[in-house]
Amino acid sequence: MEANARHNSDTWHNPDTGDNPNAGVLIYEGIEMNLKLQNELSAEIEALRQQNLLWNPKELNGPNCAKSIVGGKEVVMLCSNNYLGLANHRALKRAAIDAVRKYGAGSGSVRPIAGTMDLHVKLEKLIAGFKHMDDALYYNTGFTANSGALPALLREGDTVISDELNHGSIIDGLRLSKAERHIYRHKDMGDLEAKLKEIAAKNPKRILIVTDGVFSMDGDIAPLDRIVELAEAHGAATYVDDAHGDGVLGDHGRGISSHFKVEGRVDFEMGTFSKAFGTMGGYVATSKTGKEYLLNKSRTWLLTGAHGPANVAASIAALELLTQSDKLVKKLWSNTKYYKKRLKELGFDIGESVTPITPIMTYDSGRAQHMSARLYDEGVYALPIVFPMVAKDKARIRTMITAEHKRADLDFAIEKIEKVGKELGLIK
Ligand code: PMP
Repeated sequence: MEANARHNSDTWHNPDTGDNPNAGVLIYEGIEMNLKLQNELSAEIEALRQQNLLWNPKELNGPNCAKSIVGGKEVVMLCSNNYLGLANHRALKRAAIDAVRKYGAGSGSVRPIAGTMDLHVKLEKLIAGFKHMDDALYYNTGFTANSGALPALLREGDTVISDELNHGSIIDGLRLSKAERHIYRHKDMGDLEAKLKEIAAKNPKRILIVTDGVFSMDGDIAPLDRIVELAEAHGAATYVDDAHGDGVLGDHGRGISSHFKVEGRVDFEMGTFSKAFGTMGGYVATSKTGKEYLLNKSRTWLLTGAHGPANVAASIAALELLTQSDKLVKKLWSNTKYYKKRLKELGFDIGESVTPITPIMTYDSGRAQHMSARLYDEGVYALPIVFPMVAKDKARIRTMITAEHKRADLDFAIEKIEKVGKELGLIK
């Protein structure tokens, strides 16, 4: 058997006589699989296909940048999280190459055993400095930060209150915790306050309010100043996911706490390097005690191999670059303002977004899918967001602006969006 044998369904066969196809096993050059399970999985995939919900990612044939080659074709990229264009930035690439020369390709271990290089420690210090917090713990991804830190912080007898539109990694983190869970209506401070009063009256051991900073589907922002006031009034702690705020909001892109001037009043600021910072990795910035606790209690930190030197060094370069200059953050905002203004003038409904995440509402999911396909034909890459990512009647194309887009890229994209929008009757 070849180690890289492809699991092509045409080449599977059932060794049974065929009387009961579910009873057999599938054989492929020595690989045995449970046929019943394969059939069940196929049926679920088929159900997704029927609902037009199957992911079939296109390939990038080069770096992710303002103009990328996607599926062999040059397109204006309007759906990356590469807000500052750092994913392919010279300084980050240089740092990665230098780090590979000095430290090698991999870390060789989990962080608590032999995987903590001085690079990881330097990065954590830089994160803490950038976020104006005491310390930070660097995780492999934002997803594992949320799914590891939240269950560690929330034990039996504790209570958590979470915005109804929080990211899936928060939802999974809360599912892993033994705390009592409450959901408040999206950004509804009246609802949060009422729930806090009710919960505080029951005297739980610990109350934690969890919110996204910027909501990734709509581009709207949590009222963090009010959330912090309510938390302080009711003895609750706060945990903010700043995945889409870092590099975007606040002074030099320090994030949502800087934007609302509540730095030092949020207990846990979580973020990711996979968006504006251009690399990979998650973090939780907090007090020294908070870090020591999470370091000892987060299974998604303790039990997984550490990021290799290239990624960590590039992440360090990203933070150094942003600390030195806010030029890219300013460019991101001037591009964002120009793009949103032009779309509004054309008559598009772009929802409530106040960030570079710019939905173009189609409401109908078929129309969103059609619009995305037509835009790709025209040389613009933007994906549809449909149920279950958003409510069934809230389908949209989600477009994202970066600092790297030139005015000509934006004008090209706007011209094509106008053309396709007219074809689909979204505008006149
Ligand atoms: N939180 C939010 C709000 C996100 O949008 C994402 C990324 N989709 C994450 C967390 C997870 O971050 P990462 O990509 O680093 O796993």
